[in-house]
Amino acid sequence: MATRRVLRMGNPLLRQKAEPIPLEEITSDDIKNLLKDMNETMNVNKGIGIAAPQIGVSKQVAIVGIPKGSDRYRYAKEFDLVTVINPVVTVLDETKQGYWEGCLSVPKLRGFVERPRKVRVEYYDIEAKKHSVEVEDFIATVFQHEIDHLHGIIYVDRVPPTKLSYVDEYIKYIQPLEKKEQEDKENS
Ligand code: ZN
Repeated sequence: MATRRVLRMGNPLLRQKAEPIPLEEITSDDIKNLLKDMNETMNVNKGIGIAAPQIGVSKQVAIVGIPKGSDRYRYAKEFDLVTVINPVVTVLDETKQGYWEGCLSVPKLRGFVERPRKVRVEYYDIEAKKHSVEVEDFIATVFQHEIDHLHGIIYVDRVPPTKLSYVDEYIKYIQPLEKKEQEDKENS
């Protein structure tokens, strides 16, 4: 296994549409090694998702998983690690939900993105078995963020110009207001 360098925004590979993996290649050693590197790189960087283009491989593979007690995102509930290959997203509920997102390819920034609150994701697993999952709330945002990477889209493309912040300023100025809003909601 090896930790790989994470490509940063501006690298043209992040803007390419990633290639689907032919079914017969999913179980190959190449893909197994790619997934090991993606896992290790995600863990070292304390990410909750990573897509193959982020380590320079333009293939349709992403990993999503929220470990117990992840403190990178305060909305995050534990979610078992899942590998999605050749994923297809279908929106099940168009209602928009907004979260402050971050990205390993865009260090030190956070941006507010509104996305559909519930989606279905059809994908192949590492044994080339087909799956379909329905996800909602924050984890639905994580899936959509990672799968965007497979289409050359970076979350900042979806952030309104006034809703981009450095992480430090987000923690200092924005998060306290959000917490207050949440408390007001819970108290009303
Ligand atoms: Zn990202």
